[in-house]
Amino acid sequence: MNDHILEKDCETILETPFLVPANRTGKFCSAAKCIYLCILLETFTFHVQGGTMALVDNILKLKADKSALILAHNYQRPEIQDIADYVGDSIELSRRAMEEKEARIIVFSAVDFMAESAAILNPKKKVLLPVLGARCPMAQMLTVEEIKRSRSQHPRTPVVLYVNTLAAAKAECDICCTSANAVEVVSSINADTVLLGPDRNLAEYVQRKTGKTVIPIPECGFCPTHLLFQPEDVQILKAQHPEAAVMVHPECTFEMKKTGDFVGSTSQMCRYAKESGAKTFIVGTEEGVLHRLRKDNPGKKFFLAYEGAVCPNMKLNTLERIYASLKEEKNVVTVPEPIAKKARKALQRMFELK
Ligand code: SF4
Repeated sequence: MNDHILEKDCETILETPFLVPANRTGKFCSAAKCIYLCILLETFTFHVQGGTMALVDNILKLKADKSALILAHNYQRPEIQDIADYVGDSIELSRRAMEEKEARIIVFSAVDFMAESAAILNPKKKVLLPVLGARCPMAQMLTVEEIKRSRSQHPRTPVVLYVNTLAAAKAECDICCTSANAVEVVSSINADTVLLGPDRNLAEYVQRKTGKTVIPIPECGFCPTHLLFQPEDVQILKAQHPEAAVMVHPECTFEMKKTGDFVGSTSQMCRYAKESGAKTFIVGTEEGVLHRLRKDNPGKKFFLAYEGAVCPNMKLNTLERIYASLKEEKNVVTVPEPIAKKARKALQRMFELK
């Protein structure tokens, strides 16, 4: 049974009067319809859960046989987060990948630039990206040519790149940063002006926090998912839940960030939610993080500021695709050593700050 069949069956039952046992008047009985629907749904749920459980078992067995470690970003599907060895934001996952000693394979359930960073930081491991097409559009917005052009326009100005960049771009920068440490990284630089890319919203945030001049490269880089959040959505939710604390990701617009009681990366949000006395939260980042927030804080309520905030690239990863890539050890992410060497230095400078 699949989704399509179930959907058709439900539609048929709801629209056809005599498909289920009739009552004494000869008319279809809605109670019977409900019971039938429940049985159908239960069968479906059992079937799907059974299938998922078997798939999970197979992945866990393969993982053990092949000595693999599964890392999942906070934006991954709940079922992937639940089987991962470690769930976190980009800096946590990079660090975890860098420090891994025992595993032979790292399955990186996220997008291209994160798997690349793992391959750069731990070149002895085989790094698999379950779907090679899981590419971050924001990372594609900054080319090597753009960095070189900006450097020539602003000579002697340090270049700070968000980890959401491709390896070739990282190789051209002075130091990397993440949304969790961008303010600290820029504060640590001995210069009043820095170039920062590719997210102009992060650049604006860092400029405000550090008081330095932060020039975005390219001029208009952005995350299409975080751009979907609008302050109006927060106002509506706030009217329904006036007691709620608002958490917003730095990749959101300035107007959206202004609505936040807290601005930070996904893992910083998880810590904030745990430590905060608030019981209700409005969340301004990709919907995947709600799974972790709800799991870690069973007594608290979380509402996504905008229901459509789903990163389609992150969601390309599925259990089936993780299984296939691990089984065949396919979709290996590699970075040519001359690029990896330079990019590694930029990443290590960031790690040395803490
Ligand atoms: S949420 Fe935005 S920055 Fe993150 S992978 Fe998706 S598009 Fe890229």
